[in-house]
Amino acid sequence: MPKYYVCLELGGTHLRLGIVDEQMNVIQFNRQPTRGLSEAADKVAYLVALLRSMVDHVGRAHVNGISLALASLMDRERSMVYSSPMVSGFDNIPLRNSLATALGLPVVMEKDVNILLLYEMHKQKLPMEGIVAGVFMGTGLGNAMCIDGRIYTGFSGAACELGHIPIAGLSEPCGCGKLGCIERKASGHLLAELAMQLHCHVSEIFLRHGQDVRVMDVVHHFAIAIATEITIVDPVCILLGGGVLAMPSFPMESMLQQVRDNVRTPYPRSTIRFAYASGDCEAGVIGAALHAKRVWGIEGETILQSPPAQGGKTLWEPPMLHV
Ligand SMILES: [Zn+2]
Repeated sequence: MPKYYVCLELGGTHLRLGIVDEQMNVIQFNRQPTRGLSEAADKVAYLVALLRSMVDHVGRAHVNGISLALASLMDRERSMVYSSPMVSGFDNIPLRNSLATALGLPVVMEKDVNILLLYEMHKQKLPMEGIVAGVFMGTGLGNAMCIDGRIYTGFSGAACELGHIPIAGLSEPCGCGKLGCIERKASGHLLAELAMQLHCHVSEIFLRHGQDVRVMDVVHHFAIAIATEITIVDPVCILLGGGVLAMPSFPMESMLQQVRDNVRTPYPRSTIRFAYASGDCEAGVIGAALHAKRVWGIEGETILQSPPAQGGKTLWEPPMLHV
């Protein structure tokens, strides 16, 4: 009997829904504006209605369970949503148990950046030994880390908040409630503010104003954040992603040079490797299925193992390599 994962990725702009089979093929996919959830008075009821229609589509007996990828801060046990800066009112909700009770199915949830890193590790066959870190330059500055193929969530569940490391001398308030986080200097949100001042669409800011000192300063702070991560954990590979990287004329080579300039020599400067997120629309729902499959220990637990060595060589080849 075929079995499926019903997956939902909640982002600041879009909510993506997918039904994924055991081989990680997406058999149904759609997306809708997150605004509907933001405006819903009863967030849980809104999500239950969406998920129930997906469950009914394939039949409850064919569903392994529900997997959620959320742009939210959550507890260590991944049962409670504490806050979701990009979704109005989606805070302090015991989401996992509420959905499980309403739908009568197992539910898992995880931070979206962790799910995206899992997806890219699977798709690009990134190394499962050592640390692979993801830095996502989108509206905010997202971060995720896998250690020996396992998502690192930290003691309290709040690990990898790279965007919220404090910068000495900076006192601007951050959305997290602190003052002076690096995200105030390195984020798509800041680029959007600059674009308004410069009277251009944010997607064209590098194309039209790439030499503006304020725009270059944002790129520099992205580089500082990445270099900080590399300095602390010396990862096997850094995966870079997020909508900012996809903007036309984003100065990738300049940013990578600034990263290298800010890490120690000879190591890790000479060994650091970069990979790039695919930007696949279905990454969140497939990643959520990968995560659920792993959490529930469903047969076929080969997905997140190291690629076998052949003749002393790893099968892994980064899509783009900058050393
Ligand atoms: Zn902050």
